[in-house]
Amino acid sequence: MVANSMDELISLCKRRGFIYPSAHLYGGLQGLYDFGPLGVELKNNIKQSWWESMVHHQDNIYGLDSSILTHQHVLYQSGHEDTFSDPMVDCRSCKSRFRADHIDDVCPNCGSSDLTDPRPFHLMFKTEVGPVSDASSTAYLRPETAQGIFINFKNIVDSFSPKLPFGIAQMGKAFRNEITPRNFIFRVREFEQMEMEFFVDPSSDSKWFEYWVSERLSWWQDQGISKAHLKLEIAEETAHYAKATTDILYQFPHGFEELEGIANRTDFDLGSHSKNQKELNISAKVLNNNHSTAKLTIPNQDQKMIVPYVIEPSAGLERGFLALINEAYENEVLANNQTRIVLKLKPHLAPVKVAVIPLARNKPEIVSFTKKIAHQLRQEKFGRVEFENTGNIGKSYRKNDEIGTPCCVTIDFDTIGAADSNAQWHNTVTVRDRDTLQQERVHIEQLNEYLKKKYFHCY
Ligand code: ATP
Repeated sequence: MVANSMDELISLCKRRGFIYPSAHLYGGLQGLYDFGPLGVELKNNIKQSWWESMVHHQDNIYGLDSSILTHQHVLYQSGHEDTFSDPMVDCRSCKSRFRADHIDDVCPNCGSSDLTDPRPFHLMFKTEVGPVSDASSTAYLRPETAQGIFINFKNIVDSFSPKLPFGIAQMGKAFRNEITPRNFIFRVREFEQMEMEFFVDPSSDSKWFEYWVSERLSWWQDQGISKAHLKLEIAEETAHYAKATTDILYQFPHGFEELEGIANRTDFDLGSHSKNQKELNISAKVLNNNHSTAKLTIPNQDQKMIVPYVIEPSAGLERGFLALINEAYENEVLANNQTRIVLKLKPHLAPVKVAVIPLARNKPEIVSFTKKIAHQLRQEKFGRVEFENTGNIGKSYRKNDEIGTPCCVTIDFDTIGAADSNAQWHNTVTVRDRDTLQQERVHIEQLNEYLKKKYFHCY
């Protein structure tokens, strides 16, 4: 099940503290969002899952966190300074602005055909580094995390002596001054990328390209996205640096669009950032480099120094976030004909892992017992354990369904062995399952193991 519309997701995200429009006190800034207490948990969980699969569970992939502010030579050599622009058109009638390749010859807003000719719109955010403002102080907020990887290639080769094939992975902020940010967090101006550059011998590029397309497709399914909502699209036109690109498209509420791109970037990037390019037999068309201090080469099987090819899976965190909450969203009709909104996120992604709830907020013994159980569960370090003290159990369950908490643990009069309570249930709690709504009584001594086994077996 998915949401009926983007509006349902926007409303849930705002109401429950996942995502807020940035600077809303001052009217907002278009294409920028702030992630609230639950949004940041979900984001971190997606990132952690990506990092585990791309770095921790791999023998030959190294992690990196390079700087966001980027030297202008890097983005000159990568081609971004000259070519990273989109053609835009303005509608003279309603003053709307569009990417020329997103529209036909009429304004999608008002239907007028009185449009300007396409003009290049620069996508990079420029800034200055240091106290003196001149041409040499120009720097950029990186438009992709990939360039930070290429310029650290030699550092990692020198420190770790990897053999081909090997990869370098990085996740972090990227900035693009998009002409028309839209569709909630689908196209924004500040976002996070999860990118890995996999360096290979040029003779094996196609094999590794296919390998990473298939790996990435199954990773998204492991996160809970159904196969029916994903599709591969082989790009007819590739970027200037790429030999082949396959996009993984997801069926967002506004249609099938790119979630992740896998590109064969050939030897373009390492070739571009190398000195003595003429000696290197570079196959891609690169800009002359008079500034670099190193040759970005590595020995191949025959011990010949080569510039490797690179296969790049590049995913957007915000697009992943949107796809995952859409996929998990369900407006469910229950057996009693009532409805509930439930976010059926996989437990490893859920922002809150367990909500611990006292049945009565004004009973100090129940409240303090609940706090003790929260403390007991927190020792497991499986993520956020929330102590909920709203005093309204129905409301607490509804809220936790909406934010995707896999289970709620309720402490009642029987748990604490209150007068007239059922002695059989002394020191037991009720565990309520988000998806089946089934409730089970579990002894507090078995509670940690029970939850770990049922929900968090990966911890
Ligand atoms: P698009 O064609 O949608 O503009 P792109 O092909 O320019 O995307 P890439 O440069 O391949 O995107 O970036 C890799 C990934 O980064 C994309 O698959 C997407 O998930 C994410 N991404 C790119 N631009 C944005 C953006 N403005 N907002 C959110 N995510 C983005």
